[in-house]
Amino acid sequence: MKYISTRGQAPALNFEQVLLTGLASDGGLYVPATLPTFSRDEITAMAALDYPQLALKIVSPFVDDCIPAQDLKAIIDDTYAEFRHNAVAPMVQLAANQWVLELFHGPTLAFKDFALQLLGRLLDYVLERKHQKVVIMGATSGDTGSAAIEGCKRCKNIDIFILHPHNRVSDVQRKQMTTVVGDTIHNLAVEGNFDDCQAMVKASFGDRSFLPADRSLVAVNSINWARIMAQIVYYFYAAVALGAPARPVAFSVPTGNFGDIFAGYLARQMGLPIERLIIATNTNDVLHRVMTTSTYGRQPLAHTLSPSMDISVSSNFERLLFDLYDRDGAALADLMRRFDHGDITFSETAMRRARALFSSHRVSEDETCRQIASTWRECEYLLDPHSAIGVAAALAADLPASVPVVTLATAHPAKFPGAIKSAGLDEVVGLPLHLKDLFDRPERFEVLPNALGAVQDYMAKSISA
Ligand SMILES: *Cc1c(COP(=O)(O)O)cnc(C)c1O
Repeated sequence: MKYISTRGQAPALNFEQVLLTGLASDGGLYVPATLPTFSRDEITAMAALDYPQLALKIVSPFVDDCIPAQDLKAIIDDTYAEFRHNAVAPMVQLAANQWVLELFHGPTLAFKDFALQLLGRLLDYVLERKHQKVVIMGATSGDTGSAAIEGCKRCKNIDIFILHPHNRVSDVQRKQMTTVVGDTIHNLAVEGNFDDCQAMVKASFGDRSFLPADRSLVAVNSINWARIMAQIVYYFYAAVALGAPARPVAFSVPTGNFGDIFAGYLARQMGLPIERLIIATNTNDVLHRVMTTSTYGRQPLAHTLSPSMDISVSSNFERLLFDLYDRDGAALADLMRRFDHGDITFSETAMRRARALFSSHRVSEDETCRQIASTWRECEYLLDPHSAIGVAAALAADLPASVPVVTLATAHPAKFPGAIKSAGLDEVVGLPLHLKDLFDRPERFEVLPNALGAVQDYMAKSISA
């Protein structure tokens, strides 16, 4: 399996190379050159598989001959054994045609564990084999940082540095990062905001001279292909459980960077009969605006009750655009160059293709709270604010009565007690058992000034031998 850049100018890579790469050298994102497909019979047969077996089936063609089948199986089994529910991704029914796919039974209670638990293990495996060590650097406003740290905490060959804005992430989110102990885990609390943290990461990827010569820098944000790959699995898992391929299914996906929902698009390209993919956004609605107006434009960031979807640009949307524009790298390079200077409008052909599969819905802060409250009232089921946005969008969608809609529940409600309270539900759920003592665990983090030099110096002196 070869991976190519959306902007057409970077060298093609194999799976091992793409795993260790972030952005392509031409500024694009890597996508598979061709997709594996599954026949109706093969999809029918998936009903007999448990989650790790299904993951192995779906992931194998992407990994190709880079990892022997037995080793890949062991990595996947180990990854999903970490999840606290025997079904890994259980489903709950809210109404006749409304389902919730719970993706929050991993160690950090958000769907990012599905990809980052696997990514950490894959990285460590290939690094061990190559006798190589790498440095991971990432900025987080919450969920990504904790999931990346949990995913890499046992990796001998990775020093991980996660920057978060000091005093600006929630207590649960900070504790989930800073209570994980290990010599290779470094939490840097930067005296700035999230954008400052992200700018430092970007600058460090641009000029890596502060690192020892034998270390490369690896990205763990959702531009990393392996994260998207891991997320394809649960679309198959849920759809097959609801009767696919005989019965088509729709998905409603709370979306920020378009990573999770892009995995759903790939599942469909691979043969899964998906009737509709609903883009559910909060008031940071860049994707809803592009779907309704064909114009892609930045707007100032709003801080919402669903902080993991607070973005002004959706980086993975470029991966979809690549297909909408017939995989024309030169056209994409031109579009993205123009986007650096202002709003861009996509062709009607491209948007017609997008609208044939995707619809979108924007959910306000008030509606988010009302959805949390009404789902609680009607089903005694507590949604986190991200998942509530997904359910609100699912209920608003105009779909044939025969099509079940699955909302991806991307986080556990206990991660966002503030939103639960805003919804008027003071009977806040507690943390699951394995995190009950989270607030008693000792924290370790380093407060650093909002200065690139200070951060890079700290990193240089902390990297393991
Ligand atoms: C990251 C995240 C999202 C958004 O996922 P994307 O892949 O960026 O669209 C939604 N909900 C939660 C809880 C998240 O952590």
